[in-house]
Parts: sequence; C-alpha cells; structure tokens
Amino acid sequence: MSEFRSHAVVLRTQDYREADKLVTMLTRDEGKITAIARGVRKIKGKSKALVEPLTLGFFLLHRGKSLDTLIQGEIVKPHRKLQSDLVLFSYALYFCELCEASLPEREPAPEIFDLLLTALQQLEHDSSAMRVARCFELNLLEVLGYRPLLEHCLHCGSESAPFRFDPERGGIVCAGCPVAAGSIPVSGAAVAVMKRFLENGFYRLTVCAVPDVLSEEIKRVTSALLLNATGKARFKTMGVLQSFEEMK
Ligand SMILES: [Zn+2]
Repeated sequence: MSEFRSHAVVLRTQDYREADKLVTMLTRDEGKITAIARGVRKIKGKSKALVEPLTLGFFLLHRGKSLDTLIQGEIVKPHRKLQSDLVLFSYALYFCELCEASLPEREPAPEIFDLLLTALQQLEHDSSAMRVARCFELNLLEVLGYRPLLEHCLHCGSESAPFRFDPERGGIVCAGCPVAAGSIPVSGAAVAVMKRFLENGFYRLTVCAVPDVLSEEIKRVTSALLLNATGKARFKTMGVLQSFEEMK
C-alpha cells in the first residue's frame, strides 16, 4: 500500500456512511479511481469545494485494495462558471458521465484526461454548449477507438450525400447501397462537420457554425456510438440535456 499524488478532475460524488463521501475522479496518472473523502460532509469551505464535481485539483491519495483514500489536496481550477450555470453544469456533468462510463478503474488514460479538461475549458467561453458537446463526443470516440468512418460509403466507396450512418459498422452508407436496420440519416453537411471536429478537435471551434439541426443529426450518430462503446443502455445526464436542447 502506498501514497501517490496526481492531478485529477472530480467526476461524481456520493454520500457514504455518516460523514464521508465517495469521490469518483479521473486522475492524470492513474486513470479513473474512487476514493473515500473522510468527514468531508461535516466541514465547510475549501476542503468541501475540493471534492465538488468538475473541480480540478492536485491530490494526495492513499492506495487501498479497492477504494483509495483522499489524504489532502489543493484546488487548481474550480470551474466556477460551469458550477454556477445550470445548463453549462449539466453539459459538464454529461462529459464527466461519458468519461466515467467509458473507462475501467485504474487504467491510465492521459488522453481522455486532457480531452476532458480541454472540453471543460471550452465550455466556459464558447457561445454554443451543443457545439462543444458534439466535438467532445466525437473526439472521445476517437480516443476510445470508435472513430466513425466518414470518408466514403462503407460498401461502394461513393462520396455522394445523402448518407445513412450504420452504428453497428461505424460508418456511412450511400443512398444506392442496402442499409442496415437501425441506421441513421445524415446529411453531407453533418458529415462535413463531424470530419472537421475529428480533424481539428477544439482548435478554433468557435468559428465553426453548427446549426441546431446539424447538431441534432450528429447527436444521433454519436449517441449510438457512445452507447455501443460503453455498453450502456442510456446516459443518466442526457435526459436533462435533452430538455435544454428542446427548449432552445
Ligand atoms: Zn454505397
């Protein structure tokens, strides 16, 4: 048993015993871990803020057999803007849920750590949370090995839109080829935006206009792929987001 230090983003917390919390965090060096924060529900101030979801901290932890223990830590970035805006907070929690769902415990995933931090930072100043979400989903899929095949029709190689997206095979199929059950219609414009997000990541994302209708199309594709990639039936935070996106 040993101690280790790492930067980490708090993904989720739950009350545990009388005064403790279980803190699920994504560490830069050790991947996803769950740590007990003892007594944290009885204290106020900075130590409490340290274990709020979305906080980026530098933590000292004690390695346990199944659960680690949080010994101490300091806040590096609280992501206050995200914590104080209900819509942004919901998007950020959705990003956290996707990371939690796609990673096994204690398997280093520095690329996903960096991707999550970049997405949270982008969410703080981007005028479109939906655009940030679609870009995050696609780049997460890429890191997980589920990059959608968007260059040409899976069957005949045609590059002519419109297409349908086959979630089972992970790529687009043209109008002239047989389509599998469960495939999703996608326009040429949606395919172009997805390619841009995969090629450029968050670089100059704010100059890329994504109308809501395209965001919707892309979301259907990324949702299907993310559910496949994680083996989940649904994402808990997505229901809340759906209502925000419909209210727009
Ligand atoms: Zn074809």
